Amino acid sequence: MEGIASSSPIIDAHVHIFPPDVAARRDHYRERDRWFGMLHAAPDATVIQAAELLTAMDDAGVDGAVACGWPWGDHGLCRDHNDALAEAARIGGGRIAWLATVVPGSPEAAREAERAFGLGAAGVGELNADAQGFDLRDAAAFASLAEACRAFDRPVLLHASEPLGHADPGKGASTPDRIAALLAAEPDLRFVLAHWGGGLPFYELMPEIAALTRNVVYDTAASTYLYRPAVFRSVLDLVGPQRVLWASDHPVLTMRRFWRRTRPAANLRSDEIAPVLGGNAARVYRFEPPTREGAER
Ligand SMILES: [Zn+2]
Repeated sequence: MEGIASSSPIIDAHVHIFPPDVAARRDHYRERDRWFGMLHAAPDATVIQAAELLTAMDDAGVDGAVACGWPWGDHGLCRDHNDALAEAARIGGGRIAWLATVVPGSPEAAREAERAFGLGAAGVGELNADAQGFDLRDAAAFASLAEACRAFDRPVLLHASEPLGHADPGKGASTPDRIAALLAAEPDLRFVLAHWGGGLPFYELMPEIAALTRNVVYDTAASTYLYRPAVFRSVLDLVGPQRVLWASDHPVLTMRRFWRRTRPAANLRSDEIAPVLGGNAARVYRFEPPTREGAER
């Protein structure tokens, strides 16, 4: 066993959970939201709630999870989901942190983010330009939300996608060039880029891109669906041990299976294990879940 201090938590930095009403009335929400309908068209599409997340965490041996809601296109749906996530965190007893969803560019976005921070949100996200109908290159639309996040020192988790490779319904066009435009407009905002930033880390070999990403960290959500396991080693060698957050995208990919497929395949060095598997998420989201004694790292 590659031991790390038992005080060092294992955190899944990107999962999705839903309010009871969405789980109970999926057809209704499929009608109401285009993106939700598209990605939950199959009758067996998984929609889980807080209790199922806690079970998945127990199965995987994960101490804490950062729960996202859904990138609804409607402010009211975001608000309801944010309230449900605050309740999920209460049910989680310190094991669930949560991110608020808002619609960037909507007049309510900044105020809703502030309300959510007041309820305990660890940040904002996972925002999705394609799902929510905003343009990552439109800095003005993002400005008031960015200001709210900076004021509370909270990060924004953005969905990111590769401009090439296999297509899937949820991929969208949040590509590194568009994300770089937003990073240039908001250099002091902390960003978490999902799914390895759509490949942005590889462009950090360019000095001007490295300069843009000083407040950026990457999560590994859905990694096994997108890349060979060598992506862990490659990106860590490019960006260092402090800027990668282990994350599954559960339930899209099952947490326990993702853990088994990425650990030890990630081939982490001893100094990378604690930060990548939880320490970085704890720092970025200011989240300290209770750790279990003697857990296998
Ligand atoms: Zn995503």
